[in-house]
Amino acid sequence: MIAEIIAAGSEMLTPHRLDTNSLFMTEQLNDLGVSVAFKSVVGDSLDHLTSAARVALSRADIVLFSGGLGPTRDDLTREAVAAALTIELERREDLMVMLRERYAARGIVMPPNNAQQADVLSGAEVLPNPNGSAVGQYLVTFLGHLPRIVVLLPGPPKELKPLFTDEVKPRLAARLPSSHLRRRLLRMALIPESQVDARCAPIYEQYPDVETTILAGSAEIQLHFVSAKPSADEAQARVDDVAGRVEAEMDDAVFSAQGESLEEIVLLHLGMRGLTLATVESCTGGLLAERITATPGCSRTFLGGAVTYTDALKTSMADVPASLLAEHGAVSEPVARALAEGIRHRTGASVGVSTTGLAGPAGASSGPDQGKPVGRVYIAVAGLGAQTEVRELTLTGDRERIRLWTTQHALELIRRLLL
Ligand code: ATP
Ligand code: MG
Repeated sequence: MIAEIIAAGSEMLTPHRLDTNSLFMTEQLNDLGVSVAFKSVVGDSLDHLTSAARVALSRADIVLFSGGLGPTRDDLTREAVAAALTIELERREDLMVMLRERYAARGIVMPPNNAQQADVLSGAEVLPNPNGSAVGQYLVTFLGHLPRIVVLLPGPPKELKPLFTDEVKPRLAARLPSSHLRRRLLRMALIPESQVDARCAPIYEQYPDVETTILAGSAEIQLHFVSAKPSADEAQARVDDVAGRVEAEMDDAVFSAQGESLEEIVLLHLGMRGLTLATVESCTGGLLAERITATPGCSRTFLGGAVTYTDALKTSMADVPASLLAEHGAVSEPVARALAEGIRHRTGASVGVSTTGLAGPAGASSGPDQGKPVGRVYIAVAGLGAQTEVRELTLTGDRERIRLWTTQHALELIRRLLL
């Protein structure tokens, strides 16, 4: 069974509003073992909605509409779907009564255009909406000889979500062969997507029944595995099997086998060894500390940190000798080392980590850092092993990307030193 989602609403064809209902419905449908094959956003035009509905009904077993069920002239979903299915809309007297009562309760007479909210696709079940005036509709029908399930839901997410969960999901579940979905997520940092795919494809291609997706973004690669089976145990076994083999292949590169973030993993490993951490940041301006402190429970491990942007603060807050800064420049291996050691000493943390670099867009205009390329970054970790570890990086991209990747390298260096 495949599904198609149509989100009706011209506002979502502007740069200001996003269709999020389809994301919610996709997740819910996936839970039932139904995948979404197509989705679209269609403006509030009867022609456009009708043609989108026709196409969807021709190719998907389940077609779900979101929005366009209100009382105004641009709420056209009911009409469009009726036209696409060539069936009638029936004005339901019980809904008229309910609508009139809603208005009466507020002491106003119902405006006549509200009557269209009582129009129901012939043969459809009405799905009561406790949070609004537009009811949902659920229709099991045929298009020619093709069985079709058609679902109409109001657009406001506060109305659509409970209607989907309480009314639509159980109806769909009853019609579908029982299927249980299990997922696994492997995350890797600082490794090219092409390399991940080249090494993993020969493994996951042996699992045609597991849906594998590689996602690259935010300085990491994610491998998602999804299996749908008649039993949950069977589905779990399949995703565990493929994830286990991919993890063995990628070895140390996998920082998380259960979906945890890199900062969570680093804090976990530090915590297990009873180690504490302090940061001192120049080019990342606190982003590293922000990522760490966004992780619940970090206070057991993370003592705190400093943002030392100027040379003077590097000296006063992390004891970097002024002579070192004058000789090598702030963006240098000796300064990165001195920063990490300095913050470790100052805070009493077991581990000190530092970042210093040129995030761009302009490089240093004077002093010893002049001439160093944008993207040149040094990170250092003091307190893991006999010597302070320093890495020189040459990162590409804009300021935001360089700063993010710097934090990723810093976290990944700590993780690898802990392995
Ligand atoms: P009602 O029956 O309550 O009048 P409706 O079915 O006509 O609602 P719309 O008028 O299209 O729905 O949308 C109402 C609100 O819901 C708007 O704020 C709109 O931005 C939001 N909304 C509509 N569709 C979506 C969607 N697909 N994703 C997220 N928000 C949506
Ligand atoms: Mg609308």
